[in-house]
Amino acid sequence: ELANRMAERGADLVKKLFAQGEMVTVNQTIDQDTAELLVEDFGHRVKRVSEADVEIGLTGQEDDEKDLKPRAPVVTIMGHVDHGKTSLLDALRGTDVTGGEAGGITQHIGAYQIQPENSGPITFLDTPGHAAFTEMRSRGANVTDIVILVVAADDGLMPQTIEAIAHTKAAGVPMIVAINKMDKPGADPTTVRTRLLEHEVIVEEMSGDVQDVEVSALKKQGLDKLIDAINLQAELLELKANPDRDAEATVIEAKLDKGRGPVATVLVNKGTLKRGDIFVVGAEQGKVRALVDEHGKQVKEAGPSKPVEVLGLSGVPMAGDNLTVVESDARAREVAEYRAGEMKKKRLATAPTSVDALFGALSDKAQEYAVVVKGDVQGSVEAIVSALHGLSTDDIKVRVLHSGVGAITESDVTLAAASGAPIYGFNVRPNAKAREVAEQKGAELRYYDVIYDLIDETKLAMAGQLGPER
Ligand code: GDP
Repeated sequence: ELANRMAERGADLVKKLFAQGEMVTVNQTIDQDTAELLVEDFGHRVKRVSEADVEIGLTGQEDDEKDLKPRAPVVTIMGHVDHGKTSLLDALRGTDVTGGEAGGITQHIGAYQIQPENSGPITFLDTPGHAAFTEMRSRGANVTDIVILVVAADDGLMPQTIEAIAHTKAAGVPMIVAINKMDKPGADPTTVRTRLLEHEVIVEEMSGDVQDVEVSALKKQGLDKLIDAINLQAELLELKANPDRDAEATVIEAKLDKGRGPVATVLVNKGTLKRGDIFVVGAEQGKVRALVDEHGKQVKEAGPSKPVEVLGLSGVPMAGDNLTVVESDARAREVAEYRAGEMKKKRLATAPTSVDALFGALSDKAQEYAVVVKGDVQGSVEAIVSALHGLSTDDIKVRVLHSGVGAITESDVTLAAASGAPIYGFNVRPNAKAREVAEQKGAELRYYDVIYDLIDETKLAMAGQLGPER
């Protein structure tokens, strides 16, 4: 590639490098410094293009409006432990009318698509819970179109329910509330709806615009209504993608399979993934050897919103990684090697910048200063949140992603890290697990015992984020 751009012979470049003690082959990637020296040696001028140029043409290719076709919504189920997430996923799986002939959804590949009666297809991510959701988001992958918040009618709002609300809101994903276990004698959906108000989730029954549906995953009741609610929400979102182009997909999960080698379940975002396609995925590459669907059947191709297992990878990618089909092996190798190098650099760098923080810094609109607040008593948490909101200006708005009473938990940290936000502990500390995760993700923990200090430092940090121009 470099020889080409200089209109020199590849063999000459290799010879030169050999003479300098670099034992390389003609299709190997060399680092930037070596490349620059080499270019100068050959009497050419070095023009530095941006690092991201390697990736150009890979992603972000815009589609023409006329090529867009409706696609199935992608749904994630969240809620407190034991409120029935798994049961609901199982029950919904049972509404698949194609299930009979295909032998039902037998494979757990991380996601499945159902075709309910009188409805379009719907895709569910079947790793319930917000840990996976936020982990994906922190890696820049927003695959979920709709969140179903499951609340057990006999148990009401619990800590993880509230966390799930915070995660959903931070991601800006619309929510449908499924009030589950309606078959139980102690079911009290009214209290659930009222308590949701405290968290600014106003359901339709309370004249809000968040759909709420009473269900029983156990007795399979209310599932039709839930599917209707999903379809209605999907219609409002006008979900579309161009199926007639090279595929881009997101890794939902990946593993090393004993018999089959590295396997990744991907969800196609746009285009159609086909057998034989050459691709890069994260810092890995490959050629699609086989595609396997949730029925365990081999398929020739997978279009938008379709989850499918991909075989034929060079290694195991990570959940949240992007898969992109490219034109040639050489291109796949170039991008994969570039990304591997970038990842190494990133690991060496200290504070990781999240995708959100990056986009925040680039966008023209008013910036956001996001923060998670935990405190020892409700009164001080409320006082802090209201004082923080008071700091918003036309240029930068304070956004409290989540606030609450008690120690800083792992969930607080993952939520904050996904948005590049600091976590304020007012007279509280993180638990051991939270501290460990904060270290891993480079999330910033700040402790205060005087509200005045907290506000003062926030002002400084906000000014710092805005930079000197404003
Ligand atoms: P998860 O932890 O949120 O995935 O919850 P599970 O789906 O594992 O359900 C927890 C327990 O609640 C299990 O014993 C289920 O059988 C029970 N359960 C789930 N949905 C219902 C329901 O609609 N009615 C009743 N009575 N029990 C349910």
